[in-house]
Amino acid sequence: MVMRTLKLLLLLVLLPSVAHAQLKVVTTTEDLGSLAREIGGDKVSVTALAKGYQDPHFVDPKPSFILAVSKADLLIAVGRELEIGWLPPLLTSGRNAKIQPGNKGYLDASLNVKILEIPTGQITRAMGDVHPLGNPHYWLEPGNGRKMAQSIRDTLSNLSPADKGHFAQRYTDFDQRLAAAEKRWDAAMAPYKGTKIVTYHRSWPNFMERFGLDVMGYVEPKPGIPPSPSHTLELIEDMKQQGAKLIVVEPYFDLKTPQAIAGQVGGKVLVLAPSVGGAKEATDYIQLFEYDVNLLTGALKQITGK
Ligand SMILES: [Zn+2]
Repeated sequence: MVMRTLKLLLLLVLLPSVAHAQLKVVTTTEDLGSLAREIGGDKVSVTALAKGYQDPHFVDPKPSFILAVSKADLLIAVGRELEIGWLPPLLTSGRNAKIQPGNKGYLDASLNVKILEIPTGQITRAMGDVHPLGNPHYWLEPGNGRKMAQSIRDTLSNLSPADKGHFAQRYTDFDQRLAAAEKRWDAAMAPYKGTKIVTYHRSWPNFMERFGLDVMGYVEPKPGIPPSPSHTLELIEDMKQQGAKLIVVEPYFDLKTPQAIAGQVGGKVLVLAPSVGGAKEATDYIQLFEYDVNLLTGALKQITGK
């Protein structure tokens, strides 16, 4: 009797850890981390490496990154060479065969999404930091977010077939919440279709195309190249001619040049969150758009009077 009770107790102590064996998911960005949590729920534990307020092209790998990568069951990357400067050395240091590109535990989230700005012809150094595989900031469009969530669902199901139903159900729930939110965002942005704006870096082509804004110039003379006086003067002239007044800036860039430009054209600088965690309100993938659309429509209302 005592033995049986002991065995039962032992089982009760051991069972939860067995039942809750979670997949260890590491994502390069907080956006991917949010989507992995949406789909995985309590079947996954998620570690996002780069913070949403950091420039995702340039991330200093911390020792904790290597530890996370070494223990991961799945690594999800943005791909399209966004992380080319910091992820390959991390994958080497992590010494984890499961999550090397080409293996079951590596997911490039860009494979099924809509990619813009795929260069045609030869790429030269003179073009700046141009990505040969197209613009890697594709997550900033809810339709792409949905496709990324589908890839994550399928990959998690492949790694943990017993939980396929769980992941499918969580995807459906996410899809429905995203669709409802998209209706709100589209309606809020509708009055401003065709408004010409400027962005600092080419982070927003998918976002602006989706919501109907026309990006007519960039504060950077070329992707990854800091502002130069001659380009800034040209941009000011172009903005005056085309009546562009709004300059969207990512949180990790210096505001001095954008503010000087805004002063010259009687315009406004707006810092938007390019990622989950890029502002404290942007707590997950849906809240990221909620935050950006709110700020953007507020600024556009002021500028256009609509
Ligand atoms: Zn970029």
